[in-house]
Formats: sequence, C-alpha cells, structure tokens
Amino acid sequence: MGIADPSKRLEAMPPYMFAELERKVAGKRAAGIDVISLGIGDPDEPTYPHIVSAMQEAVAEPANQKYPSNRGRPEFREAFAEFYDERFGVEIDPEAEVIPAVGAKECIYNLCFAFLDPGGVALASDPGYPVYTGGPILAGATPELLPLVPELGFAPDLSAVPAEVAAKARLMFLNYPNNPSGAVVPEGFFEMVVSFAREHEILVVHDNAYSETTYDGYVAPSFLATPGAKEVGVEVFSLSKGYNMTGWRCAAILGNPEAIQTYWRLKTNVDSGLFEAVQLAGAAALRGSRGPLERMNETYTRRRDLVVGALREIGVEVSAPKGTIYVWAPVPEGHSSTSFAELVLEEAAVIVSPGSMYGPSGEGFFRISLTTPDDRISEAVERMREHLA
Ligand SMILES: *Cc1c(COP(=O)(O)O)cnc(C)c1O
Repeated sequence: MGIADPSKRLEAMPPYMFAELERKVAGKRAAGIDVISLGIGDPDEPTYPHIVSAMQEAVAEPANQKYPSNRGRPEFREAFAEFYDERFGVEIDPEAEVIPAVGAKECIYNLCFAFLDPGGVALASDPGYPVYTGGPILAGATPELLPLVPELGFAPDLSAVPAEVAAKARLMFLNYPNNPSGAVVPEGFFEMVVSFAREHEILVVHDNAYSETTYDGYVAPSFLATPGAKEVGVEVFSLSKGYNMTGWRCAAILGNPEAIQTYWRLKTNVDSGLFEAVQLAGAAALRGSRGPLERMNETYTRRRDLVVGALREIGVEVSAPKGTIYVWAPVPEGHSSTSFAELVLEEAAVIVSPGSMYGPSGEGFFRISLTTPDDRISEAVERMREHLA
C-alpha cells in the first residue's frame, strides 16, 4: 500500500470518462483557439444586489462570526417556512421541519451516510446529478438506476423496479425540474412516488434545485405539496441556481421531521453548520422581491430560444424546456454522445456536455447550458449553424 492510495470506497467510484475530451479542449485553448463552453451549469450573472447587501451587513456583525449550530438560525428557518407557504402552499414547522445545508451537494451526500448501511441500496434517477450514485458508493452501498423514460416525460417507470430492489432500497433520489433533461414533473408522477415510497418504506429525497427557474408561465411545484409527501420524504431546496448563489453554499432540507432529525444527527458529527451570515443572506433572498429572478428567467428564455432555434436549423429535434438552465437534445444519427461532443468541439470550437456524463440513460443526448452571456451564446450558436448544418 502506498501512502496516497485511495480507500476501497473511493477506488469503487466510476472512472472519469471524459479526460480525452478535456485534453482536446486544453489543446485547442493552448493553440490560441477561442473555445466557448456551454458545458457548465453555473450562472454567469452576479448574485442579486439585495442578497449581497444583506450579506455585507451580516458578515460585519461579530455575533454572526461564531460557530453556527446545525439547527440553523430562527430567521433562516422562518424565512423558509414563509416561502414554502406562499410559494408552494406547503406548511413547514420552522422548529422541526427545516434545517440548513451547506449546499444541496453536501446534503445529498450526507443523507447517504445518515440512511445507508454497507450493502444497502439507493434508487437514483438516470441520467441524474452525479452525487445520487457517488454518494451511495462512497457510503459502501449500491445505487440502483431509475432510467428516465423520454416517452413518460422523463419520469422513471416505477412499476419496472424489481421487487427485490424495491425491498432493499432505503432512499430514492428524484429531481424536477430535471437536470440534465430539462423536463418538468409529469402530471400525477409525484402522487405515484408517494404511494411507491409508502409501499416499500423508502425515504424520497426530492432535489429541488430549479423550481424558481422556469419559463413560458410554467410554475414548478414542491414535491412536499403532494398529499402524503411529508410522511415519506424530504426536499432539498438549493438557492444556488435560482438566486445565482452557487459559491455561497446555501440550501435547506425540509419535510419529514424524523428524517431531518436523523440527518441533523449525522451532521453534528461531520461539519459545523452553515455560516450564519450566509443563512441571513439566504433569508433575505427568500423574502426579497422576485423581480431579479423574473428578469433572470427572461434572460434564460431568450438564450433558450436562440439555442433551440439553431439546433432545429441544423436538424436536431429538440423541444424547448419549461425549466432549468439546460437544453437537452438527441445527438444526430450515427453519433454517440461523446463522438458528437468531440465533433462540435472540432468543427465549431464549442463545448457541449455528452449526455453519458450523467449516467447510461444519458447516452444518445447532449446538454447545453444557458449560463453563458448572450453574445457568447449567439457566437456559439452561429458557429454550430455554420459548421454543422
Ligand atoms: C446544481 C445542482 C445541485 C447542486 O446544488 P448546490 O446547492 O450548489 O450544492 C444539486 N442538484 C442538482 C440537480 C443540480 O443541478
């Protein structure tokens, strides 16, 4: 054993398959080629000013500079309870049904350690956010994939889950509006999830990263608004994408009070909570005007239409997403996800994400992120039209 050899759990993580693509990007950039990345989902615009002001005030206050508690500040918990009531019509007890998380990524990862034993099973949407599979693997458990079926509106077919898998599963990771497919939750699907979770005693973890980022008048629900959801599930609400706060690490877990207590118990052993100044800034975000959010969504709508229009012109059959910051499109005939991403890079010097990055059911698709300034998106789209049509 060498001193830097990874643990067996870390060794069990799937290898990174896209080093070759990254090597090509680095090569092009080194050769002075202007490569435009439409790969990463990280908002390009700054955090809204009222949130930054709240942070500036909170950070200067010595009382906010101490160790936070993992239960969270009352202002944070109350702001979430009010927001969930007004925005989703969901009643949240600020004392027992919401606590902060240091970003959704931390929360999802630590939920695996709170609920999974070695040899246990978690159900993970596929394609999906990589932590739905990486978290269980690192916890010594097994992720079982729930393929999202395009014909079902990118919902998984729960009746196709083998009985022995459903019997062993403790967690189920879902996410709508969905990254990477851009799909919104199909009518009636959350109701099916609640009865499936009840039947098999599975804790549902709904990863709500995009409910505030929607278009064309679509208003995304909270999973917790589904009758019975709070008995079987929790929702992780991240401020990262909707409020342009990816760097702040500000999220909360809401819903089933016993499950939240278990997560809290794990957390008291792992980290020291979310910086209280960030909690106060998060409360200001939730309580503030929705104006900046709405303007941001108008910007994404404009970019989405540019991208969808150009893709259709080059013969890609794509539908315009009603939510998220992504366009998810099938690769043209004769291509795999990676070969198409390599072609786009080669011909147009544009980076798109191969769908297979998000799981085996992502094969045959590619993802374009809308988090690049308008002029650069226009330029990227122009190059794709010119070189790939
Ligand atoms: C971006 C993203 C996250 C990460 O959220 P953080 O709060 O920044 O950790 C989680 N889930 C999905 C589906 C995402 O797209």
